[in-house]
Amino acid sequence: MKIQIYGAGISGSYLYNLLSQNGFEVGIFDVRKEPDCRCAWGFSYSETKELYREVGLNVDDYVLSKPEYVILNGKIWLKNREVVILDKKDIMRELWRFELRDEGGNILIDATGSSRAVLPRIKNDSIYTTVQYIERQDLDENIYIHMIKTGYAWAFPLGNGRWHVGAGDITKERAFELIRMLRETYDLKDSDKACVCFGRIRLLPPSKCKPIVYGNVYGVGEAVGCVSGTGEGNAPSLKCAKILYDCLINDELERYEERVLREFWWIEVEHDFVSAIQNGKKIKALRLLPKVISVESKRSVKHSFVTMKKMLSMLI
Ligand SMILES: Cc1cc2nc3c(=O)[nH]c(=O)nc-3n(C[C@H](O)[C@H](O)[C@H](O)COP(=O)(O)OP(=O)(O)OC[C@H]3O[C@@H](n4cnc5c(N)ncnc54)[C@H](O)[C@@H]3O)c2cc1C
Repeated sequence: MKIQIYGAGISGSYLYNLLSQNGFEVGIFDVRKEPDCRCAWGFSYSETKELYREVGLNVDDYVLSKPEYVILNGKIWLKNREVVILDKKDIMRELWRFELRDEGGNILIDATGSSRAVLPRIKNDSIYTTVQYIERQDLDENIYIHMIKTGYAWAFPLGNGRWHVGAGDITKERAFELIRMLRETYDLKDSDKACVCFGRIRLLPPSKCKPIVYGNVYGVGEAVGCVSGTGEGNAPSLKCAKILYDCLINDELERYEERVLREFWWIEVEHDFVSAIQNGKKIKALRLLPKVISVESKRSVKHSFVTMKKMLSMLI
C-alpha cells in the first residue's frame, strides 16, 4: 500500500512522520518549499505533548511562553491552564526532514487545511480572513483578546518581547479594525513590526465538512473541520491525523469518518455556541454554556459560569 499526503502543515507533517517511522511507504507534497511560519503557535499542552511524543518530539523543548492569563476585552481575566506558545517554526523544521514529492498512491490524504485541495468542495463553506504581524511590545506575558460577535483580535507572547498580533473576521477590513480596537483596549503600540501576512481559517465543524472520505481520499485536520469555535486547530488537527493513523494500522479505514465525528463532538458544540452568539440567540447560547465551560476548562483556560455569562452579555 502506498500513501500520498498532500499538505505538509500541522497534520500532514505529523502524519508523515507517524507513517514513515512505522514502516509505511509514504510520500508528501506541499505547494510551499519550506514550512509555513505564520501565527498559530498556541497549543493545548497536554494533548499536544502526548501526540508529538509518538514521533519522538518533546514539546517541552519548544516552549516559548506560558501565559498566565487570557484577558478578554480588557475586562475578563481567565486563569490559563493549558495554553502554551510553542515555537511552531522549529517544530515544523524538525518534522520537515523529507523531500517533497508527488507520486500518487492507493490512498491519498488531503491535509491541505483551508484549501481543501483534494477533497470535493464544501457547500456553504465558511472561511474567515486573518491578518497577522510579528512585533515588539512591552507587556506582561498574557494572551490579550478583543472580541466581537463575528471575530477577534489577539496578542500572543513569543518570549523576549516579541508578539504575534493578529485578527480574524469575515473580511480583511474588519480584521484590521479589530486590531485597531485591540491596540486601543490594551494600549499596544503600532510600530516595530517585523512582518505582516494574511491567512485563512475554516470555521465549520466536521459534520459540515463532508465528505470527509471520498473514494480513496481521506481528509485530515482543518480540511475536514478540526478547528474549534475559538479557532483552535493545532491539537485537533494532530489528533485527527492520529485517528487516521490508528485506523490504518488497525485496518479499520471504513470507521475513520465515524471516529472523527465522534471525537470532535465538542467542536460541534462550540460552533453551535458561536453561531448562537452570532445570531443573537442568548437562551440557546446559555444552554450550551456548561458544555463549553467544561471542555475549555480542560483544554485552555479556567472558565466559570459567571465570567462566561459576563462575556456573553458583552457580545449579545
Ligand atoms: C492566523 C491564524 C492563527 C491561528 N492560530 C492558532 C493558534 O494559536 N492555535 C491553534 O490551535 N490554531 C490556530 N490556528 C488554526 C491552525 O493553524 C490550523 O487549524 C492548523 O494549522 C490546521 O492544520 P492542517 O494541517 O489542517 O493545515 P495547515 O497547517 O494549514 O497546513 C496545510 C498545508 O497544506 C499546504 N497546501 C495548501 N494547498 C495545497 C495544495 N494544493 N497541494 C499541496 N499542499 C497544499 C499548505 O501550504 C500548508 O502547508 C490559526 C490559524 C490562522 C490562520
